[in-house]
Amino acid sequence: MNGDSIYDKHGQEDRIYVLLQVIMIVNMRRGAPQEEIDVVVERARSIGLDVQLNLGTDKTVVAILGSNTGQVPTDIFAVLPGVDNVTRIMKPYKLAAREFKAADSVISINGIEIGGKRIVVIAGPCAVESEEQLIEAVKAVKKSGACILRGGAFKPRTSPFSFQGLGKAGLELLAQARKQFNIPILTEVVDPHDVSQVLKYADILQVGARNMQNFTLLTEIGRSKWPVLLKRGLSCTISEWITAADYLLAEGNNQVMLCERGIRTFENSVRFSLDISSIPVVKKSSHLPLIVDPSHAAGHYSLVPSIAKAAVAAGADGLLIEVHPNPKEALVDGLQSLTPSDFDRLMKELQPIARAVGRYI
Ligand code: PEP
Ligand code: MN
Repeated sequence: MNGDSIYDKHGQEDRIYVLLQVIMIVNMRRGAPQEEIDVVVERARSIGLDVQLNLGTDKTVVAILGSNTGQVPTDIFAVLPGVDNVTRIMKPYKLAAREFKAADSVISINGIEIGGKRIVVIAGPCAVESEEQLIEAVKAVKKSGACILRGGAFKPRTSPFSFQGLGKAGLELLAQARKQFNIPILTEVVDPHDVSQVLKYADILQVGARNMQNFTLLTEIGRSKWPVLLKRGLSCTISEWITAADYLLAEGNNQVMLCERGIRTFENSVRFSLDISSIPVVKKSSHLPLIVDPSHAAGHYSLVPSIAKAAVAAGADGLLIEVHPNPKEALVDGLQSLTPSDFDRLMKELQPIARAVGRYI
């Protein structure tokens, strides 16, 4: 990173060295005093292990970091005063695991909580195309109840001959919309060198499906500590996806959200198959909020509402939906984009479903 990066101030001290894996989780008893926590930390260090502390309001979790998973007996910690229980972690992902943090992570973006009771809807065009298009889009989605605006300035296109996004000019338009409509912005970053520039405009950085395992990009975003939405790779397992989130968390970035957007299967009547089962699996395995993108899975506007409703019913914390003021004219993903009136109808239809699962929209 160059010296004038706006996030140099964060330094390296809270980075977790990824060669050391979390091999055990020591759950302290509720209200265990600091001296008992210190004893666990000293015991770990005395045998060459490292620790990361997760200080809850009344319960501390000590992650034991080491380079092997089998040799250290759990009992050496279980016998210490104040220890409730010790779990060995065999899963490939550690920091994103429920074992590391039992409570749901809730991420606050300008006061909007993602991962709480509210179903957060992020909506807008696939790509920022012009001032007029973006302003019309933001007006429409905000009026219908979306609370975050999406819009791509850097587009990861399958073909180099397709529209690649407006780049910096697109970011400027997003900044204008954010200011004028007082709405947070989600936009994609595709190049690690662009992270420090894009986060000046974005409230949430998106890592697209094609970059889910771009570990240089993940590390850079991790270091920035900026809120980030990590999309599932088109051919990646749930475990690979959550493990990729560990790259962000390992740099001390705790504002990580996951996004299911459909995977490649043999089925070709939709663009991607939305893996509805990933919703309960992720919610069981990880504490991170989960957003579902029905638009890229469906590939067709007519399928988006049903998939969106199913996602909310299955436990998604939010939705990412493409909306274009005039989908027929869209430069990217017009076929899967909802019109403002279709989006408005969907937002109304989602309300009773959210209520049925104890949420609101
Ligand atoms: C997008 O959100 O516009 C996008 C390109 O999504 P994905 O990375 O899921 O294909
Ligand atoms: Mn798109």
